[in-house]
Amino acid sequence: MDDMDGDRTTADISDRVAHVFGEATPHPRHTVWPAREDQYLQKGVTEQDVDRWVQSACLLCSNGCGADIAVKDGVMVGIRGRAGDTVNHGRLGPKGLYGSTPWAASPDRLRRPLVRENGRLVETDWATAMGRVVEESKRLLAEKGPLSHGFYTSGQLFLEEYYTLAVIGKAGLGTPHMDGNTRLCTATSAAAFKESFGADGQPGSYTDIEHCDAIFLFGHNMPETQTVLWTRILDRTGGDNPPRVVCVDPRHTAVADEADRTGGVHLAPRVGTNLALMNGLTRELLENEWVDLHWVDAHTIGLDDLRKTVEPYTPDHVAEICGTSPDDLRKAARIFGESSAVLSTVLQGFYQSHQATAASVAVHNLHLLRGMIGRPGAGVLQMNGQPTAQNNRECGADGDLPGFRNWENPAHVQQLADAWNVDVMTIPHWAPPTHAMQIMSYAETGSIGFLWISATNPAVSMPESARIRKLLAGDQCFVVVQDLFLTETAELADVVLPAAGWGEKTGCFTNVNRVVHLSEQAVEPPGEARSDLDIFLMYADAMGFTDQEDQPLIGWRTPEEAFDAWTAITAGRPVDYTGLTYDKLRGPSGIPWPVNDEHPYGTDRLYTDGVFPTDTETCETFGHDLQTGGVVTEQEHRALAPSGRAFLKGAPYTPAHEAPSEDFPLLFTTGRTVFQFHTRTKTGRSRSLNRAAADAWVEMSVVDAAALGVAEGDWVRVESPRGAIEVRARIGRVMQGAVFAPFHYGHWDPDDLADAGHRSANELTMTVWDPVSKQPYFKTAACRVTALRPGDGAAPAPTTTASAPARGRLPATTGGAPTSSHVLARAPHYELDPSQRSD
Ligand code: SF4
Repeated sequence: MDDMDGDRTTADISDRVAHVFGEATPHPRHTVWPAREDQYLQKGVTEQDVDRWVQSACLLCSNGCGADIAVKDGVMVGIRGRAGDTVNHGRLGPKGLYGSTPWAASPDRLRRPLVRENGRLVETDWATAMGRVVEESKRLLAEKGPLSHGFYTSGQLFLEEYYTLAVIGKAGLGTPHMDGNTRLCTATSAAAFKESFGADGQPGSYTDIEHCDAIFLFGHNMPETQTVLWTRILDRTGGDNPPRVVCVDPRHTAVADEADRTGGVHLAPRVGTNLALMNGLTRELLENEWVDLHWVDAHTIGLDDLRKTVEPYTPDHVAEICGTSPDDLRKAARIFGESSAVLSTVLQGFYQSHQATAASVAVHNLHLLRGMIGRPGAGVLQMNGQPTAQNNRECGADGDLPGFRNWENPAHVQQLADAWNVDVMTIPHWAPPTHAMQIMSYAETGSIGFLWISATNPAVSMPESARIRKLLAGDQCFVVVQDLFLTETAELADVVLPAAGWGEKTGCFTNVNRVVHLSEQAVEPPGEARSDLDIFLMYADAMGFTDQEDQPLIGWRTPEEAFDAWTAITAGRPVDYTGLTYDKLRGPSGIPWPVNDEHPYGTDRLYTDGVFPTDTETCETFGHDLQTGGVVTEQEHRALAPSGRAFLKGAPYTPAHEAPSEDFPLLFTTGRTVFQFHTRTKTGRSRSLNRAAADAWVEMSVVDAAALGVAEGDWVRVESPRGAIEVRARIGRVMQGAVFAPFHYGHWDPDDLADAGHRSANELTMTVWDPVSKQPYFKTAACRVTALRPGDGAAPAPTTTASAPARGRLPATTGGAPTSSHVLARAPHYELDPSQRSD
């Protein structure tokens, strides 16, 4: 491993591995979050050495913290938070600080294209590599038509790249087989918005944290997934008049600790039972008349059906299903029912679990019942995992139509056909877009014979990874991979295209809170690597895609031109970018959409007037039955006459697909650590982060470990009906009966670790998905654990996070010694833009 980010000592408070959240800046309710400018420069670099700072935002989670990149001698050497940015007020977390730049100069970057010759990948030039891609693409188009083509992209490209890819797929080729790894992380967020409010789009605002008096986190380990956002909450809970925190999570995370500390409650439902818990909370609101009936009458439909659906879920019944205390459920419901402004956040504990969309929609139901949406402090944040997942959903590279358009609405499809000047029948709209799991099944059979994977690593991140690796390696499908490194997926490709990464190209991306940032190119990419936009344009040129006048289908050459084309296509849609330009985004802060003549400075929160995009002509979907996924037809939707009202929707709880059995008596669930991002393509190349979480582990409860004779650090074998891993055990704070494993680890760095081939958590997970969002389940599978042999010390799990040991003390996880210019905390100087004020 290359030591790109130097050494740091363990004792220093500025070690943001040991002290993840940094210096606290507590403040009272209804006051502005103080600024704190965090900065990190690589070893040997001082501020005076920095040649220039280049505007950007952090690309290592969906929070999208505003940041500047430090450049010295043409190399990215550090990062600092932008104090004027509405998202982070200058803060950066450990991933952003230590993981943003070291990967870029890593010696194992892909510098030239690769093609497979006699079973081996060999270097070649662009003409040869793209020539093979185009030759195979044209051959299959001629023989089988556009359905032979599939595209599987990412949550980490830029808006301009997604939009260009969407136009290629939908108007150039005409294939419905497009999706992204956003299907694994954020599809349920989009689906839940569509079902409740008619269209995707985050209703709430981060500024709701400043105004709420209760915060509910549903399946959201925020301290490890959106670290800076959790810092924002800690600064409220540490100040005067703090909100109470309610944690819904089977693990005892830092959120659970904060719930205890603030007088809230920690509800730990059995893995796979979220919906029963949510039905119980909903029933409590109704039973206790904690409902704003006047608001509900005016702004929602579906109350009677919802009441019937949740009626059986008494606190005692919920306790039987979920293993939670009836009194805790009552207490949580009372907090929701009696607070003046509740903010809810939702993430993978709900999205990647059984009955994902129904459980996430149930969070909306709680807010709608209380009329708590669209006003300061009262909002929902259905979170994303990845930094640009939102753009994939907006632009249509995930299969949806660009601009939150409804594929079943002929007028919406015609708008795109007119904009692109193509025959409307070219644009696939005869069936729902193909979701990622189905794309892989088609690739497995060869029905899709051409699969282009960009900026993602399904060989590690998709469920049942042995199956994924096999289908990618097979001869039945020609696989193109475009990435920064020779990932576990790229190793299996027929052609590998070297891509430029963050800081090496220009483009925009939108965080989970609708805030759009411009990220400017800071340095040149290595070797012959090219931006993803340039690669897509190269393919479009070579394929000769044209419009109805035989003009090039894609009329843009630069990121800014692509952005302008995108803003035009959003006119009149909820996701309205028409008031945004690159120049406007060069100001002190990112700007939340919609941005248009009515809202020239952006929009802090949606639905302030209680009017939702649910009209039949406007909505992005006509909706689904949340239990079965059965579609609501246009006629049925029209008959409901939603007229701008939100939907209250429910579903009964059903047991998860794979329950524990005699052979597999434990529940297997996967998740994240604060120190790694996805499959570690970037963060695994930061020495500080890698020291903090270098290798895989599993967490077991004290009781289960004792029963199996497993001690801290022992090697164990964890098996499901689909595969096995051999890793070390942390005796942690996971609930009894459950086994937790981080999903980040594949085998790209086996030179460092002899066991690396047997540590991928997705060897064990299942090929099964939510009926509405099609998001696969990573949180519910059965497993067994066998003790193998003693380890040589503690497990490689962090000790400063939810992975901390349950008992006893271990040395604190640290990243190392301070560099010449480590984390700085500067005086607050943040001023709210008038458009961002909530009070
Ligand atoms: S919270 Fe997310 S966006 Fe912000 S610095 Fe950390 S990883 Fe980057």
